Amino acid sequence: MRWEELTGDQFPEAVRQSEQVCLLPLSCLERHGHHLPIGTDMFIGRELCHRAALLEPAVVFPDFFFTQILEARHVPGTVGIEPELIIRLLENTCREIARNGLTKIVIVNAHGGNDALIHYFAQIQLASRRDYVVYVPQPSYQAEEPATAAQWETVIDDHAGERETSMILAIRPELVRLESLPQDSEGMPLGRLKPLGDQNIYTGIWWYADNPTHYNGDGRPATAKKGETWFADRSRALATAIRTIKDDKDGRRLQDEFFGKTI
Ligand SMILES: [Zn+2]
Repeated sequence: MRWEELTGDQFPEAVRQSEQVCLLPLSCLERHGHHLPIGTDMFIGRELCHRAALLEPAVVFPDFFFTQILEARHVPGTVGIEPELIIRLLENTCREIARNGLTKIVIVNAHGGNDALIHYFAQIQLASRRDYVVYVPQPSYQAEEPATAAQWETVIDDHAGERETSMILAIRPELVRLESLPQDSEGMPLGRLKPLGDQNIYTGIWWYADNPTHYNGDGRPATAKKGETWFADRSRALATAIRTIKDDKDGRRLQDEFFGKTI
């Protein structure tokens, strides 16, 4: 059930059917190599949530694309929102979702650059008492079903590579410019901070150091069929997570208990 497609009259019944679960798809507006649209993550997050909600009913919030993508501000089309504002907007959005009766908020992240943000955001839910719980299913690229994992032909595949190109070929093929796919090694990491990386030393400029054109991987082996397999696999995994979250009573109970003890 897409939030924006419900009428006001239908909304309370949608809340009941979803057992108070709302999926919040996080994405961003970011360059995806030469061949994929700037809204690639948005299309993927939206599709994944929609398919999962068909398997396990949930209300799907519209695209939330004002997230962390400062590392792409040197290339056209990026919208990099101020860090403090992202947190405030996300927090305010969750409050409004909960005010509408959806008190189990599931962040479904479709943008790798948000991984630190979503875990930090979940953690700061403990800053003050609230009447909802924020859940973060683990990154959607992990623990694929064996048949899905076996179909990939490339090893380096992090951004606009075989996976994401396959996904967009499956759902928005008219937006893929296959003729613009590089035939050289542009998608391979440059390793400009290799001495730091070798010792697991993190720095914010790491992505730019490796992938200044926002292409990491090789999109050439991508097919729509692979993308379809991925969506079917991941929507099943997300539906299972939704079911588990619906059954969860202890998250809210312990959160309330915690705030009761907090001075
Ligand atoms: Zn992406």
